Amino acid sequence: MNREQIRTIIKEVIQDMQGESIPVGISSRHVHLCKEDMDILFPNMELTKKKDLLQIGEFAAEQQVTLKGPKGEIQNVRVLGPLRKFSQVEVSLTDARMLGVKPPIVLSGDLEQASPITLVTEFGSITKSICIVAKRHIHMSTADAERFNVLNGDSVKVALDTIGRSTVFDDVIIRVAPNFVLEMHIDTDEANAVNVQTDTVGRIVK
Ligand SMILES: [Zn+2]
Repeated sequence: MNREQIRTIIKEVIQDMQGESIPVGISSRHVHLCKEDMDILFPNMELTKKKDLLQIGEFAAEQQVTLKGPKGEIQNVRVLGPLRKFSQVEVSLTDARMLGVKPPIVLSGDLEQASPITLVTEFGSITKSICIVAKRHIHMSTADAERFNVLNGDSVKVALDTIGRSTVFDDVIIRVAPNFVLEMHIDTDEANAVNVQTDTVGRIVK
């Protein structure tokens, strides 16, 4: 065996000991729309795809909106497709401060305590209590969940190895669905705070 082969084996053994790596995806502020709100903000239009996201069927749309809160506004906020049953606005805590809103940190879809926010386009506007800060989470398939020995809704710790800012995130929620692709989602505040790069991976800490 040559040096290179030995090095590869050692790397694999270390990775095995550390646990399987999980790609990290950074969620920028974005909006999901229901059909009813789509028809107000973009009448007689359909969402047009700009870019596919890693999760199957999900995409960044060409459409953008302006968010307005009591203290400020943020322009060019991307709509993500496809349309959903309920509209939802996901911002970072920094965005929330700029807008002057106090959204709860909750999982996507949990809008019970969501903050009021106004969405504006050149065609119309809506004001609804749909603004949240997304709680960090990991998407995984049923097979992934078995391999990691976790269940949907579990809270885990995830170590991120980054240059100068290696960190363990607590309170990371496991989200399991048959069609989910393995990916940890954090927002821009969390990513910037710990110097996440495009190739950063996470590992569940036992
Ligand atoms: Zn996600």
